[in-house]
Amino acid sequence: METLFASLDELNEEIISIRRHLHQHPELSFEEVETPKYIAEFHEVLGHEVRTGVGGNGVVAYLKGEHDGPTVALRADFDALPIEEETELDFKSVNEGVMHACGHDGHTATLLGVAKALNKHKNELHGNVVFIHQHAEELPPGGAKPMIEDGALEGVDVIFGTHLQAQLPLNEIAYRTDALQASPDSFEVKILGKGGHGAMPQDTKDSILIASQLVNNFQQIVSRRVNPLQSAVLSVCSFEAIGPYNIIANTAKIKGTVRTLNEESRELMEQEMERVIKGTCELSGADYEFNYERGYPVLINHKEETEFVVKVAETVPDVATVKEIEPIMGGEDYSYYLQEVKGTYIFTGAQPDNTDDPYPHHHPKFDINEKALLTAAKVLAKSTVEYMNQNK
Ligand code: MN
Repeated sequence: METLFASLDELNEEIISIRRHLHQHPELSFEEVETPKYIAEFHEVLGHEVRTGVGGNGVVAYLKGEHDGPTVALRADFDALPIEEETELDFKSVNEGVMHACGHDGHTATLLGVAKALNKHKNELHGNVVFIHQHAEELPPGGAKPMIEDGALEGVDVIFGTHLQAQLPLNEIAYRTDALQASPDSFEVKILGKGGHGAMPQDTKDSILIASQLVNNFQQIVSRRVNPLQSAVLSVCSFEAIGPYNIIANTAKIKGTVRTLNEESRELMEQEMERVIKGTCELSGADYEFNYERGYPVLINHKEETEFVVKVAETVPDVATVKEIEPIMGGEDYSYYLQEVKGTYIFTGAQPDNTDDPYPHHHPKFDINEKALLTAAKVLAKSTVEYMNQNK
């Protein structure tokens, strides 16, 4: 294993330069062209069999080990966000209004580094590696599902992946043996009232008043319907009723998001919302349209495989701490892979140097600590090799 780590150490500069190249040339979800081309070429140079256009813009590359054994998939996403970058980096985005503000540039650089290192040691490998380079993680319906439908997981026994986290200290690995990330659902409610003169409200069905009551009434769902030991979030994030000062708007529209950590709570939220909307509208005789859209599923890690990666991480010299964390209510379409095969998704601490208050993910000044790439690479590479050795 020392030689595998040494190979990764030697690749450190290359990994960082790949990250910088990708950072400078970000592409939006479902619009990725140059990034998948770059990734495919990298694998082709290594002699890996490569499939492009997998489920859209995805790339899957295959490394066959010298000896028989299990097939381990490693996944990295590569899309960027519609954000105008405000960092001072030398390799700041050259694509206007597009930015790698979630670390996916780092995920991809890490995985390419792992691919090169494992390739160098392919004569010692007891199994095969499938490198899943996923497009469009940031934008539902996401790239994972179509990539799976297009065979990305074919023959795969286990999947590992990591997300860099600027909010976690460098050299820390954070994990969870069950639900790690929530299902990010969205909703839209349109109150169909009856507009009219602001001076004669008795002739109207005031959509603004009804929608305001609805925002309040929604708050009792989490507090009074969901089991206090379960987690749920309902946030109204947008309220729209446009018109002049003296006309009561005909319709009002509210939009928001619902986050839960299991299917039962998810079902409950949707049902209770409909009931509350119906009741609130009935009070005033108004009508409504309710649209509830399910996002990615809850990301549920597999216990045994998570504990396996945790054990490996604890032996990686670059890793200082390995700790279990609370789930986070943000979504991630890695959840689809874990519905199909066993595996785990972990976080790698990537807090930038010289700050204890890093910019959050999706912020125009977001940055990661590039030292975290090597740490992530070592954990993923060693997990792959160890998994093969234990299951050959
Ligand atoms: Mn992300």
